[in-house]
Amino acid sequence: MTAVDGKEEGPALIETRHPAASGHLSAPLLEARGLSKRFAKRLDIAGRLAARLGADLAEEVVHAVDGVDLVIPEREVVGLVGESGCGKSTLGRMVAGILSPTEGRILYRGRDIAEMPAADRAKATLAIQMIFQDPFASLNPRMRVADIIGEAPLFHGIVSRADLPAYVDKVLDQCGLDTSLKRRFPHQFSGGQRQRIGIARALAVNPEFLVCDEAIAALDVSIQAQVLNLFMDLREELDLTYLFISHDLSVVEHISDRVVIMYLGRAVESATTEELFESPNHPYTQALLAEIPRIEERKKHFVTIKGEIPSPLAPPSGCHFHPRCPHAFARCREEAPVLKEIAPGRNSACHLNDQSSI
Ligand code: SF4
Repeated sequence: MTAVDGKEEGPALIETRHPAASGHLSAPLLEARGLSKRFAKRLDIAGRLAARLGADLAEEVVHAVDGVDLVIPEREVVGLVGESGCGKSTLGRMVAGILSPTEGRILYRGRDIAEMPAADRAKATLAIQMIFQDPFASLNPRMRVADIIGEAPLFHGIVSRADLPAYVDKVLDQCGLDTSLKRRFPHQFSGGQRQRIGIARALAVNPEFLVCDEAIAALDVSIQAQVLNLFMDLREELDLTYLFISHDLSVVEHISDRVVIMYLGRAVESATTEELFESPNHPYTQALLAEIPRIEERKKHFVTIKGEIPSPLAPPSGCHFHPRCPHAFARCREEAPVLKEIAPGRNSACHLNDQSSI
């Protein structure tokens, strides 16, 4: 799959902070404006051959993220939730600078990262770090832990070579890792320890904003709680801001100040965690919450909502949720609802919120 460079509609936003690339201190730490990402699904060999022989075949385009606006204020934890394939990881990777958006802008402290001078852009990039689901895959198996953690701060001049050992020890200690083990390789650690190493590597460059993509999903339940507590402790200690991507609503409810719900590439609702879990507005959010087990029952995953998730290659017209929505009416099939404010600080994308449409 390759990125598509053509124009298309799309919106979503978030906020964060970092002194070096400082813009407006009052601006959100991070914002995404109209962020979209499309991928072209190339034809396989048989398809290309058939196309050459005259068959009416063309590359398909996946709208992974479709015009998302997101605002993340400093020190806030935003939970990003949605079923598998909804585009939440793609959105997280764009916010972290790992993927380029097809459309839209990412603002760091009020400044468009793409338009920053190179030095400021490098600092903003360092200030936003990503924690991945599979720490083993993201750690170089041939490097010792001390080198994995020390490489980036040394390269970027955050610490001198002389001070590096003490610096690495401090970061390891912050992440609850035994400093005497720093000469070991990643495979010599447990899954939970490896995720702590991944967190330590990110913290070593003094980030302000962490994008955590299913960061505890691969761990045993008992270890998940420990790593979640580490994230919460680090937030207090280091004033960190998080975009916490998860399919686990009980985890999101536990850690987030605000929650954004995504469906088929679009943000459909955002609200404070309390409001969203107590009185969900969007029918999709209502369906998700109706299906989840309460946190005390420790149910972890979405139970399937009625109907299959449509293919992002051919999303339904109008409101993407209409084939599964119990409240769908004619307008829903024709017109995509816009995410708009329905109460202070609360947004939803559903025609039911327009009195005139009911
Ligand atoms: Fe359901 Fe229509 Fe609202 Fe979409 S816009 S969630 S189909 S009522």
